[in-house]
Amino acid sequence: MNERILEIENLTVSFDGFKALNDLNFSLETGELRVVIGPNGAGKTTFLDTITGKVQPTEGTVRFKGRNLRDRKEHEIARLGIGRKFQTPRVYLNLTVGENLDLACNRQKGVFQTLFKKPTHGDRLTVAGLLETIGLTPKVDLKAALLSHGEKQRLEIGMLVAQSPDLLLVDEPVAGLTDEETENVGNLLLALAESHSIIVIEHDMEFVRQIARRVSVLHQGSLLCEGTMDEVQNDRRVIEVYLGQ
Ligand code: ADP
Repeated sequence: MNERILEIENLTVSFDGFKALNDLNFSLETGELRVVIGPNGAGKTTFLDTITGKVQPTEGTVRFKGRNLRDRKEHEIARLGIGRKFQTPRVYLNLTVGENLDLACNRQKGVFQTLFKKPTHGDRLTVAGLLETIGLTPKVDLKAALLSHGEKQRLEIGMLVAQSPDLLLVDEPVAGLTDEETENVGNLLLALAESHSIIVIEHDMEFVRQIARRVSVLHQGSLLCEGTMDEVQNDRRVIEVYLGQ
């Protein structure tokens, strides 16, 4: 059996007594791609916020590569190897695609040091590899502002990967995308899953079906069920939660 990269035990997060997460147990094996679904208010955002250290557990533990993340700051957790992609792309619109990636590769050096220096041979190779992965090689010199929404999503995923995380947390990457862009993002995540552990939060069920091997369903802050897409879709409890039957 694979080693577990993430282990969450009996996790409760209360906001003024309201339990956004309620005794949640969850684990992810190294190299696994998991999709987490659940109705609005199920606790999906709080789940990601707790893994990245934005929110602290009220009770329970989050372990990443065997380390308890309690009381660690967000930047420290990021440095341990967890990268998060938010729903809306956060790219530098006035910089080119290549400059955005170069910056992401050299984040620790700062914006100005990176932009006003000549990229090293190593930097160029890394950026070229990233461009290939995200399918934006022909757009390297285009300002990010001129990219489509789907291309911006792929660029930001590339920027995240540039920081060499072991675990990628991806929040609703295809909201508002065309079918073609959705498929491109799906193929990118599947390619990245060959060398990363990934958790994707998503509502778009067609997309979930495209990428998911295993799905976890959150409901009222707890894990309702887990399984393949077919198992989950045919689970009576899931049908009740989604359709209110
Ligand atoms: P989801 O992402 O699945 O829609 P959230 O994690 O955003 O769910 O929210 C879960 C529940 O916790 C919701 O009822 C939400 O109103 C509540 N909640 C989330 N964050 C806070 C907060 N900072 N203060 C109070 N309640 C919150």
